[in-house]
Amino acid sequence: MAALAPDGGLFMPESWPRLPREEIEGFAGLDYADVAYRVMKPYLAGDPCLADLEEVLAEAYDGFHHPAVVPLTQLGPNSFVLELFHGPTLAFKDLAMQVVSRFMNRVLRRRGTRATVIGATSGDTGAAAIEAFRGLDAIDIFILHPKGRISDVQRRQMTTATEANVHNIAVEGTFDECQAIVKAMFRDRDLCGRLGLTGVNSINFARILAQIPYYFTAAVSLGAPHRSVAFTVPTGNFGDVFAGYAALAMGLPVQRLVIATNLNDSLPRALASGAFEPQGVVATSSPAMDIQLASNFERLLFELAGRDAARIRALMEELRTGGAFRLSQGELGQLREVFAGQAVAEHETEMTIRGVFEETGMLVDPHTAVGIAASRREDVARAPMVVLSTAHAAKFPDAVKQATGQVPEMPARLALRLGQTERYVSLPPELGAVTDFIASHGRHMPQQAEMGA
Ligand SMILES: *Cc1c(COP(=O)(O)O)cnc(C)c1O
Repeated sequence: MAALAPDGGLFMPESWPRLPREEIEGFAGLDYADVAYRVMKPYLAGDPCLADLEEVLAEAYDGFHHPAVVPLTQLGPNSFVLELFHGPTLAFKDLAMQVVSRFMNRVLRRRGTRATVIGATSGDTGAAAIEAFRGLDAIDIFILHPKGRISDVQRRQMTTATEANVHNIAVEGTFDECQAIVKAMFRDRDLCGRLGLTGVNSINFARILAQIPYYFTAAVSLGAPHRSVAFTVPTGNFGDVFAGYAALAMGLPVQRLVIATNLNDSLPRALASGAFEPQGVVATSSPAMDIQLASNFERLLFELAGRDAARIRALMEELRTGGAFRLSQGELGQLREVFAGQAVAEHETEMTIRGVFEETGMLVDPHTAVGIAASRREDVARAPMVVLSTAHAAKFPDAVKQATGQVPEMPARLALRLGQTERYVSLPPELGAVTDFIASHGRHMPQQAEMGA
């Protein structure tokens, strides 16, 4: 329920549960929800939520529009695409959000309390969160997005949710500014208590947890655990690719994790030089990845540093005060053992969308195209390469049309929604303005508690 630990750090499991090889073998042929249950279960040992897990997963994935939930399609010899966009908002974030919202609702009901969910989105997180929380009577949701820096479809998916518990805030600034405001709110313990704040950004470990299972289903259908599989992950906040690391830590034979970024390349540069030096954010055709300060990278650092919390505190302090830090030779060596990094320029993303369409007839969105382009630069020695496809092409029709001349078809269930009236407020990129709005519009206050949904 608490996204950020009280000291400002991120929660991590005390240890990684290891799945025996025979158990991984046994995943073959199971339903997605069944595999998700087996992968997530060890993390919930001793927690009351364990009793909800099976039902929550069944409900969450019942709303997906493909019987396989996360189907794997083939792009070329040894090259595959894992389609993570069959959920209600056509983006991979549905896979975690539909699970996390249901858990939160059940916990709050048991406690007889309310919560305020706040989050910053560079595009798809917000839509997935709103879709997951709309209409819940124990939760108000406030989502900050950088005004004018997300696609029309992304904005409309959020702002056409008219339930009383949904609040969209267009911040006149960048995604990093939105995220800084949310992080500052979480650091203020008094405010967290007063507003009952909780988060669903990818810094929430429950999100990461729900993203681990698809690495298992994809790898097992390609021959794991008898064969290792490589993954390329279009990356922004490092949450999705960190879930891949978690799968590896749990015993899945992952040969390589390729971090694919657009021009916002702080991670590939860190892999090359050992220095993590985020720069100004550049707007690209893959806006959900227009992020330089990848929050979840901190989790990997903790692992690379041998789980030395003092070392992480020092690095994070250097980052806050000096805007950069440098990995030790040992840390960099460990990073390179598992990860590779590739930054993809805009013209290459466009050429990839066109190339994939000409070769296979498939329309891929710009985020997926960044992943495909990055994967083609990596030699993984005959291991199957799986590129995570994080959004449906119809979410980014302009980029797809420019590259291919084709307009990807929007599923009818969404087209209907997007034409409806929008509701949002615009605010300056200031902590005070955002806090005031949330304090005056949430139902956390006793005198407004009777409002209902
Ligand atoms: C959020 C998002 C990403 C990046 O995922 P992270 O977990 O932040 O690395 C990539 N593609 C799309 C479409 C997204 O919505």
